[in-house]
This record gives sequence, C-alpha cells and structure tokens, in this order.
Amino acid sequence: MTKFSDLGLIEPIQRALAAKGYDIPTPIQAQAIPPLMQGRDLCGIAQTGTGKTAAFALPSLHYLTENIKHRPPQGCRMLVLSPTRELASQIAESFVQYGKFLRLKVATVFGGVPINRQIRELQQGVDILVATPGRLLDLIDQRALSLKYVEIFVLDEADQMLDLGFIHALKRIDAMLPKKRQSLFFSATMPKAIAELGDRFLTDPIKVSVAPQSTTAERVEQFATFCNQAEKQALLTLRIRSEPIDRALVFTRTKHGADRVVKNLRAAGIEAEAIHGNKSQPQRERALALFRKGDIKILVATDIAARGIDVGGISHVFNFELPNVAEQYVHRIGRTARAGATGIAMAFVADDERPYLKAIEKLTKVKLEVIGLPENFLAEKAKLPKLVVSTHEGARPGGDRGRRHDGGGERSGEPKRHFSRPKGAPGAHKGAVRKFGAR
Ligand code: AMP
Repeated sequence: MTKFSDLGLIEPIQRALAAKGYDIPTPIQAQAIPPLMQGRDLCGIAQTGTGKTAAFALPSLHYLTENIKHRPPQGCRMLVLSPTRELASQIAESFVQYGKFLRLKVATVFGGVPINRQIRELQQGVDILVATPGRLLDLIDQRALSLKYVEIFVLDEADQMLDLGFIHALKRIDAMLPKKRQSLFFSATMPKAIAELGDRFLTDPIKVSVAPQSTTAERVEQFATFCNQAEKQALLTLRIRSEPIDRALVFTRTKHGADRVVKNLRAAGIEAEAIHGNKSQPQRERALALFRKGDIKILVATDIAARGIDVGGISHVFNFELPNVAEQYVHRIGRTARAGATGIAMAFVADDERPYLKAIEKLTKVKLEVIGLPENFLAEKAKLPKLVVSTHEGARPGGDRGRRHDGGGERSGEPKRHFSRPKGAPGAHKGAVRKFGAR
C-alpha cells in the first residue's frame, strides 16, 4: 500500500501530515498526487469526503515551495475556485494546515463580507488564493487583483458551480488566466455539460475517478418513510429522539423551511441551528462551530449552504424534503459516511415528492428501504408542542389542520390526500417493524 512517505513530497509537508495523523493516502490522493507532481493537468470525479482537497493541496504546496518566487503584488500564484464560502474557508484552512511548516501565504475571498479588507490583503500578493467566482470578479473589476501570475488553477465542485449559475463568471475567469499553467478540475458528477466545461480549462488531463459517476456513497444505509407533509415535523422530532445520533444534518428545500424546522425542534427541547443563504457569515460560522464542537447535534441546512461542509462524525442525514434535482441527493447523503464511517440517510417522502424519489433511485440505482412511521406515531405526535408555522417572531402557533407546517414555503400546494395507510397499522409498509436504534 502506498504511504505518504513514498510520494516524494518535501519533508515539511510530510511533517504536517504526520502531525494530523495521516499516514496512508486516500485513493484519490494516491492516484492524483504523482501525476500532479509531474505538472500534469487533472480531471477528477470525486465527492467531498474523499480527500480531494489534500489531493490537490499537497502537490501544489510542494511545487510552490520547490519553485519559490516573490509573491506577485495584487496577484496570486495559485487560484482555487470554490462554489460556496463555507467550502472556500475549509479549503483555505486545509492549505494552512498542510502548509504549516512552509512560508506560503494563503488568502480567502468570498462575498457577504466587506471587500476592503480583501483588497488590502491582496495588495502585497499571496501565494494561494481561494475564492468564490463572484467576489473574485468584483476584485478584478476593481483592479485589486490580476490573474496573470497564476501558475496553478483549481476548479472545485464544477457541477455545483453550474447549478449556481456561475458559467458566465467561469468563462470570464478562463479568458483572464495565463495559457501556460497547470489546471485541475473536480466534480462529483460528470454529465456532458460539465465535461465540456472541463475541456475549456484542461490540456491533456489525467483522469481520476474515485467513485463511479453518480453512485451514492456505498456505505450509507438509505431509508424512505412515506408521510403526509404535515406529519414531517413530528416524524423528524421523534426520529431524532429515538435514533442514536452523533451529529445529524437535516435538509430542507427552502431557507424559511430550515428556520421553521429549527423553531419546532427547539420547542420540542432539541437544540438545533440553521445555516442558509439568509444568514450572515458570522451566524453561519457560529452555527458550524457549534456543530463541529458537538455543542449542538442537529444542523438544519439548505443544499447550497451545506455544500462542502466538512464536519466529521455526521451519523445521520435527514431529507426533510427531497431535492428536485436527483444529483443533489447524492451530495446530501455524502455528508455522512465519510472517511470509512457508516452513515444513515432518511428521506421523508410526501405524495408530491414521489417522482423525486423515483428520479433519485434511477440515478443512484439504489432502492431506498421503505420504513413506516414510528410505532404509536399519532399518540406520540399529539404529545409534541403545537407546531410553529411561521418563522417570524410572535407568529400564531399552528394546529395541524388546514395550514402548512412543512419546509416547503415556496412550493405550491400540499398534497390533499394522505398516504393511504391504515392508521397506526404496523407493517403497512415493507420494513415498518424495523426498529431504529437497534442496529
Ligand atoms: P475532503 O474530501 O478533501 O473534504 O476530505 C475529507 C476529510 O478527510 C477531511 O476531514 C480531511 O482532513 C480528511 N483526510 C484527507 N486525507 C486524509 C488521509 N489521507 N487520511 C485521513 N484523513 C484524511
């Protein structure tokens, strides 16, 4: 088996890896690091959680140190593009950690925080710049940054970049990058549009893939419970109470939905925080820090905010609502079962979400195991506090009937019919008697 010490990385990098307790490269690291050290371009199909950050960070740190140069004023030697600010921060943090015995300067720029500090930081130039595309272009437009000194370019999470509508930004950035450079391109999935985007950036790339295209993380056990939209909050609360949870991520489709779930969990005595695009950067960082430290076990997130969250020990992913883009499901459940751990993903499927479930099963070629509502669901549900239906303070507490309680604030219409299930009859679904927590 390959070890980090076999890869020819300079000693200070090996020392930093030893300090983190990393001995054996992950498969993507073992495949990518040798060709990258030879200066090849690389096209990688890999999800977050596979160790892909170190796969591009380690050989780049090696190269930048071996070929040390003055930092170009208002420029950078390496540019890493990331779709979200959370991911950008995490990537930069990885560079700082892997490079802690080197003298390379790492900076991060993203939107949502004042630009002036970033302008000042860039004045002297940096070695490694991790950026989201929008803020990067703002800085370029303000003449605070030039890309003409870039020697290594990394585009991370390309599929998410396209989902977020960054295609024009990426084309503009491409036109400003020097032709002579090393380029690395990563995506969790590689449909045609992404591969075409890759062609634009890459020259004769090495291709590495650590999981077959669109394959759901293998170690995640996946379950679906059919329920009415109005039952989801109670179902979530009861599952959280009964499952042996280390840390859980709950996904809602909308920001208001995320806030509503948090309010209802808190009302039921379960500490939780939400992260989504309406939260300020300090709020998001605080919530993530609490979750990372284990002070809260439940983090409720929208897809975009959760993208790339690198928190170990997530035992459960709850899909409070199914995503309408099947690939998103793969990203969601990829948050659990990282680095060899096992994980559980549970989807709450309302009638109108059944087509999404079908699309997910078709994409992943995995059939979710159907489990019924918890035993005595109606009685247990009745004991829970009344649902909060609005995220505004002072809102009327809601009953169950005739109102929306779900996270689907921007979706039209709740299914009229309940899932046809003899009320309270165990075994109404395949696997309904399966007891959680008894694994
Ligand atoms: P990434 O896919 O880059 O987000 O990495 C996923 C997680 O695995 C991060 O917490 C890394 O710090 C960790 N990691 C990366 N490489 C290794 C390795 N070779 N051995 C153990 N953990 C690793």
